[in-house]
Amino acid sequence: MRLVILGSGGYHPQNERHTLCLVLPEAGLILDAGTAFFRLADYLDQRRWDIFLTHAHLDHIIGLTYYWSLLQRLTLGEIVVHGRAATLEAVRSHLFAEPLFPKMPPYRFAPLEGAPRLLLERADWPPVEVRYFPLDHPGGSIGYRLNWADRSLAYVTDTTARAAESYLPHIRGVDLLLHECYFPTGWEDLAARTGHVSLAQAERVASAAGVKRLVLLHHNPAGDVRDVEASIASDGTMSVTCAYDGLALDF
Ligand SMILES: [Zn+2]
Ligand SMILES: [Zn+2]
Repeated sequence: MRLVILGSGGYHPQNERHTLCLVLPEAGLILDAGTAFFRLADYLDQRRWDIFLTHAHLDHIIGLTYYWSLLQRLTLGEIVVHGRAATLEAVRSHLFAEPLFPKMPPYRFAPLEGAPRLLLERADWPPVEVRYFPLDHPGGSIGYRLNWADRSLAYVTDTTARAAESYLPHIRGVDLLLHECYFPTGWEDLAARTGHVSLAQAERVASAAGVKRLVLLHHNPAGDVRDVEASIASDGTMSVTCAYDGLALDF
């Protein structure tokens, strides 16, 4: 299974990084809709695609407004947008409020509430079970775990380390953990105050969850990712990588 990180940054785009948007081309899945969303032009087609939103902060949803330019280049089928009901309502009533944006694209909005898990079974994609769990972040955010018959991944972004104890059981043993890392090690105070984690905190969570492969993303646009990379402290049992735009992972 391939996952491509179209955008690896947090908060706002900068020269090397757009904000989070991840695509699983073989599964028809998209995680978050940041400013890298326009890069989906290389992937979308007329089959049904499912987008899973973590929360409604602009760096995770702004790309939903790029639909009309994608449509000029592609024949698009149904696109379903999943998230908490409050997230989807914020998208509908604020992002697509007419003074901000002229015309709402024909997305189908599907609130997650009501079922702790979602089974996506479609003829053209391998079936996947999607689970979600709460994180600790201003305004709320959720993490996702995706289970296929023979592999799994977890996507955890925009959270403090305070929540780690509660979400640890949900990510235990995944083949691939995509975890936010907004600050280098040593910046834990600012991380807690801004709703994020440091490198050391992300590494601790991944290690406690028994994860073999940790990919760090949602990098601070005001920081230097090399500072994070320089202090990666892997003990050899886990591979740790800083994501960059265009990174393709096979897992
Ligand atoms: Zn963010
Ligand atoms: Zn956020």
